[in-house]
Amino acid sequence: MSDEAIRIAIASGKGGTGKTTLATNLAVVCAQEGHRVTYADCDVEEPNGHLFLTPEPETRDDVSVLVPQLSPQGCSLCGICGTVCEFNAIAVLKSTVLVYPSLCHSCGACVTLCPEHAFHEQPRPIGFIRSGPVRGLSFLGGSLTIGEAQAPPVIRAIKRRLPENEIVIVDAPPGTSCPVVESVRGADYVVLMTEPTPFGLNDLRLAVGMLRELALPFGVVINRSDIGDSLVWDYCRQECVRILLEVPFSREIAQAYACGRLIVDESASYRAHMQIIYHQIRQEVTGVRTGSGQR
Ligand code: SF4
Ligand code: SF4
Repeated sequence: MSDEAIRIAIASGKGGTGKTTLATNLAVVCAQEGHRVTYADCDVEEPNGHLFLTPEPETRDDVSVLVPQLSPQGCSLCGICGTVCEFNAIAVLKSTVLVYPSLCHSCGACVTLCPEHAFHEQPRPIGFIRSGPVRGLSFLGGSLTIGEAQAPPVIRAIKRRLPENEIVIVDAPPGTSCPVVESVRGADYVVLMTEPTPFGLNDLRLAVGMLRELALPFGVVINRSDIGDSLVWDYCRQECVRILLEVPFSREIAQAYACGRLIVDESASYRAHMQIIYHQIRQEVTGVRTGSGQR
């Protein structure tokens, strides 16, 4: 791993806090400073990083999962597969076995344990990854097909492509569910976006709990810091949570976001904020990186 390699995940307990704005602008500023950078949009259920960073040319690759396919003539209707499937993806009826691919988690248990070897695995596309160069950095972005329920396989497919020797900015999904855990796992540092409202505080608490459970270092960025109340600051003080940056509401930022433009192109102060955040994180990670665990 090179000296400049670092993986920073941008996450938030709730949507709409400015997570993608921060992730895309931070990635561009790091690239402008001469670093090798990959931006990875892991918010695969609602990806919008490509609206701000549009790769050109763009390559698309399918992401598939393996699901069992039954050869009915080999099946003795013993019922084992229906018992071992923890996800109710198999129903063993009187005269046949039904597999529900959309419920299957590709664990392979039914395939392995079928005494008649009546299953074989078949790839089933569930989404795609778009990739390509943009603004001096590498773009990777996952997209889950509408109607599909399993984001983690698409996120894992993105993570398998992440370079080990660059700055990687991971744009994680909002919330604290499995896709978020999958996205932030292996990060050297997580930036939590929040806003000073009761909902923001509630979701921040959940996100902080998740990151402490995962033993990941993190800091908070308070967006629209001049609205709402002071409870987020009180909470951060009580919990010894580091506040990296406070961003007041700005018409300039809102307009740039609404038009799909990057704020660092229009605001020198926002660009300076991104530089400060990056160097703060770099400094903190350099001090704590003694083994960031499995990615
Ligand atoms: S475990 Fe194999 S043999 Fe038994 S019901 Fe399932 S498919 Fe048929
Ligand atoms: S692969 Fe696993 S999840 Fe899928 S049907 Fe078989 S047992 Fe169920």
